[in-house]
Amino acid sequence: MKVSTIPLIGRAENHADRTAIIACDGTFTYRQLLETSALVATGLLEGRDDLNEERVAFLTPRGFEYAAVQWGIWRAGGIAVPLCEIHPPSELQYVIQDSGATIVVGHPEFSSLLRSIAEDVGFRFALTSDLLFAKAGPLPKIATGRRAMILYTSGTTGKPKGVVSTHLNIQAQVNSLIQAWGWSGDDYILHVLPLHHIHGIINVLTCSLWAGAKCEILPRFDPLEVWQKFLERDLTLFMAVPTNYVKLIDAWEAAPPHRRRLLSETCRKLRLMVSGSAALPVSVLEKWRSIIGTTILERYGMTEIGMALSSPLYGEREPGYVGRELPGVEVRLVDETGDPVPPGIPGEIQIRGPTVFLEYWQRAEETRKSFSDGWFWTGDIGVVEKNNYRILGRKSTDIIKTGGYKVSALEIEELLRTHPAIEECAVVGVEDPEWGERVCAAVILQSQENLSLDELRTWGKKRLAPYKVPTRMLILDDFPRNPLGKVTKPAIRELFMRA
Ligand code: AMP
Repeated sequence: MKVSTIPLIGRAENHADRTAIIACDGTFTYRQLLETSALVATGLLEGRDDLNEERVAFLTPRGFEYAAVQWGIWRAGGIAVPLCEIHPPSELQYVIQDSGATIVVGHPEFSSLLRSIAEDVGFRFALTSDLLFAKAGPLPKIATGRRAMILYTSGTTGKPKGVVSTHLNIQAQVNSLIQAWGWSGDDYILHVLPLHHIHGIINVLTCSLWAGAKCEILPRFDPLEVWQKFLERDLTLFMAVPTNYVKLIDAWEAAPPHRRRLLSETCRKLRLMVSGSAALPVSVLEKWRSIIGTTILERYGMTEIGMALSSPLYGEREPGYVGRELPGVEVRLVDETGDPVPPGIPGEIQIRGPTVFLEYWQRAEETRKSFSDGWFWTGDIGVVEKNNYRILGRKSTDIIKTGGYKVSALEIEELLRTHPAIEECAVVGVEDPEWGERVCAAVILQSQENLSLDELRTWGKKRLAPYKVPTRMLILDDFPRNPLGKVTKPAIRELFMRA
């Protein structure tokens, strides 16, 4: 059997008997992960030599099976396209179709859902339960420059785009974090983040498996369960989005005094707690520090670039700032023409280096427009103060960050316009202490029509991922517009803030 050259998988052989994953489906060693992923790979290959970058979408419960299938796809030479278990069928179908997946792997729990999509789209559907009982056969040698993964992310234009990273990109992203945050085989992390998003896939799961550490995956984020795990386990690391920290603080505050003391003491044993995917409000950082005694490390990153900036592992972490460049990442701030700006002057963040993605899947023009001289335009505005980066916000009001998820206002608007009661709509993100931003929809109704927020949400949940469905609605007679008649989104946001 040829040896795989994917470094992540090669390294696992050194940790064979250590625990890799603890989840609802059991406790598994690195050896079990290697053996099971080899079975998955052989089952996917069906006697062929190499999947040669065929896209394999997969939907499994959060646990060992997820990692075994992901590694199996990589070992067979495929591109892994993780699907999200809370997405409605229309979103799953979009990702499967856009990525051109030829195989979809699903846990039996999702079989009827995926089979019905297969009838419309046409792909080979493989049940995990069948793949796991295949026989291991020869596997291809995978060059690290090959495409490894496509993650779907929202942009300023309509539907989500597939961000393609190679094995080398993943390796660079992981190496950078392992070095910066001091990961080792002695680490034990609690995983509460989505497994179709870079934060959960790279920063938590893949870093942990690269380091030979232990990763305990919870079926979902539940603040009480997280606190209980902090108490019961010898965890060393925790990574979450700001909304998670807000909910953990709420649960701590609701606990009786003796339990609060216990929870605070327990938490101090963790060597590092990280927040990212959205701005961590200084008030949340300070509250956490006052109850736990730990200053959360804030980092800045993006699906396209991996992680770019981070507060230091050791030394002062300045509230409201995201620190400096991570190892191997080049960062600069530029004006609209692409010229670097000096410290103290805000500019758009540009990133360069091996962590930056290869391309948007099948969108050559969008890929080309996102780079200048090898620098990727992030669309985020930052400033350097006291040798420390501060994120000021996004260039576009059409990108909303809610609970750490990036959603496109335009995508939601396009869908809302298909609602029979809606004539026109404008979706904005409105600041919120718990969610960062809330998805809010201003609508103009067709004459004679009525619509309640509950009705809109019930309709929306069948068609959109739950976090994209508006949580507030305003019915207006007309929208605030500029002299050219274009809807002015800042004015709409104002209306929500005043309402
Ligand atoms: P995603 O690709 O879903 O991870 O979203 C990336 C976007 O999240 C970035 O472009 C930023 O707009 C935002 N983001 C990530 N980390 C931070 C942070 N620490 N502070 C502010 N915004 C952040």
